[in-house]
Amino acid sequence: MSNVPSNAGGSTSRDFIRKIVEEDLASGKHSQIQTRFPPEPNGYLHIGHAKSICLNFGIAQEYQGKCNLRFDDTNPSKEEDEYVRSIQEDVRWLGFEWDKILFASDYFDQLYEWAIQLIRKGKAYVCDLSAEEIRQTRGTLREPGVESPYRNRSVEENLDLFTRMRDGEFPDGSKTLRAKIDMASPNINMRDPVMYRIMRAHHHRSGDKWLIYPMYDFTHGQSDSIERITHSLCTLEFENHRPLYDWFCEELEIYHPRQIEFAPLNLTYTVMSKRRLRQLVEEGRVSGWDDPRMPTISGLRRRGYSPESIRKFCEKVGISKIEGVVDLQLLEACLREHLNQTAPRVMAVLNPLKVTLTNWEQGRVEYLEAVNNPECPEDGTRQIPFSGELYIERDDFMENPPKKYFRLQPGKEVRLRWGYFIKCEEVVKDAEGNIVELRCTYDPETRGGVSPDARKVKGTIHWVSVPHAIDAEVRLYNNLFTVPSAAEMEGDFKDYINPNSLEVLANCKLEPGLASVEPGYRCQFERIGYFCCDPDSTKEKMVFNRTVTLKDTWAKELKKGE
Ligand code: ATP
Ligand code: MG
Repeated sequence: MSNVPSNAGGSTSRDFIRKIVEEDLASGKHSQIQTRFPPEPNGYLHIGHAKSICLNFGIAQEYQGKCNLRFDDTNPSKEEDEYVRSIQEDVRWLGFEWDKILFASDYFDQLYEWAIQLIRKGKAYVCDLSAEEIRQTRGTLREPGVESPYRNRSVEENLDLFTRMRDGEFPDGSKTLRAKIDMASPNINMRDPVMYRIMRAHHHRSGDKWLIYPMYDFTHGQSDSIERITHSLCTLEFENHRPLYDWFCEELEIYHPRQIEFAPLNLTYTVMSKRRLRQLVEEGRVSGWDDPRMPTISGLRRRGYSPESIRKFCEKVGISKIEGVVDLQLLEACLREHLNQTAPRVMAVLNPLKVTLTNWEQGRVEYLEAVNNPECPEDGTRQIPFSGELYIERDDFMENPPKKYFRLQPGKEVRLRWGYFIKCEEVVKDAEGNIVELRCTYDPETRGGVSPDARKVKGTIHWVSVPHAIDAEVRLYNNLFTVPSAAEMEGDFKDYINPNSLEVLANCKLEPGLASVEPGYRCQFERIGYFCCDPDSTKEKMVFNRTVTLKDTWAKELKKGE
């Protein structure tokens, strides 16, 4: 197999990690690239994980390497099969396929052997300090830590105690196995870190076999080593763990992958931590992990995001060492760009006002030809029913309009999209003075919206035929949080939840073709925005989510980078 990068001269820019990968291939250090995406199955994936997925799977694809999906499942109390399932679904939905699916918990026997090996080498010891005492004796950035009184136990005693820890002789939390490194190290992670803890917890895969569980730091690098990962890519917060990662590989004399850190993704007006997202779900602040306001992959999917737009976004954000907060508008711009190319245009009236055409023959129905997507002629046309009773948007009529209002108004004409010119002749009101109906005439010579003479009609509005309309609930979403940066959320982050993040419009009218679409169907409601059919839809009432509005202030910015 060739190792010449397939993206040579292509569109993927070379970030510093890809440069390292290319150097390692060129120098012969590696003949094949092996990466992994290593989620802990303690929640649903979010858009930050998408960045890591695009990086790990993307590099494997571009350099004819392989990428594993590995669950870092060493923390039994927080992990569930539901998360394992959702993570697989989300990775696939994003458009990637793993070489192998692996679980760090499958390495528990090997990790135990390696722990014994370090004890034998005098590099690990059983410590009786409590978690709190360990924390208190760890020191600070300025002060060295204090050595544990148990640090100099003999190898025999350590082997005996560790075996008995495994066999359940000691209560939870009463003992740990610690690496014997350096309590005075400037790097706090190197001050005799805990390798194993006693924890009677059911594990989603190993069941009740183990009463002791390895810590993340004693698992991650070794898992990478077992899988012969060439480049172990992780976010910046692991930079301080790298010396420990390296120490374990060296002391165990096992294959030593290279850990490389990159900046995690942060996005404005949302939070990017599973712990926080889980709180929102558990406290009912959102309807679930897939609430369309959530930055989770499943939430974005339900909202109407396409995998293409998320991949494009990750490419635009790029890979670097500098952490920042990316503007949500960049994500939305990538989405609009993709939906503009692919989403069929349909007509939907969110806030209906009835229009009666007084000169239309009672009961007559005509079918008008409408273009499905002007950006994509191959998508063809459809026939939409037109009759003497229509719904238009309430906003598209004003009784006393200001200048430059080109929509419907008394005595003036407006064009109905794909239809006719109509003129408002009479405004019908109820006893309270609310407008309940407009009585209009239409000009039969203007079918298709074309003027037969030089008549100027500036405004074009959308509509739906009353007898053909289907009912829908439309959910409009706004930012979930009121401040742009999670760093600005002092105290409880939940105090910054936007109380107006969801607005439900219960009485919307859609063109009839939408009766048969499936959840996940994406389209543009003309003049309003992009929408996606929600799984809550029933035969009686369709439900649509507003994916994103049409406003596009970032289009220019996007083009700059091309
Ligand atoms: P969280 O902090 O949200 O709980 P995590 O880092 O604990 O996330 P993991 O399951 O450990 O989640 O993450 C799996 C992989 O995804 C890791 O390699 C991690 O570095 C990467 N990752 C997590 N969050 C981000 C992010 N915001 N941007 C880029 N990569 C991320
Ligand atoms: Mg983590």
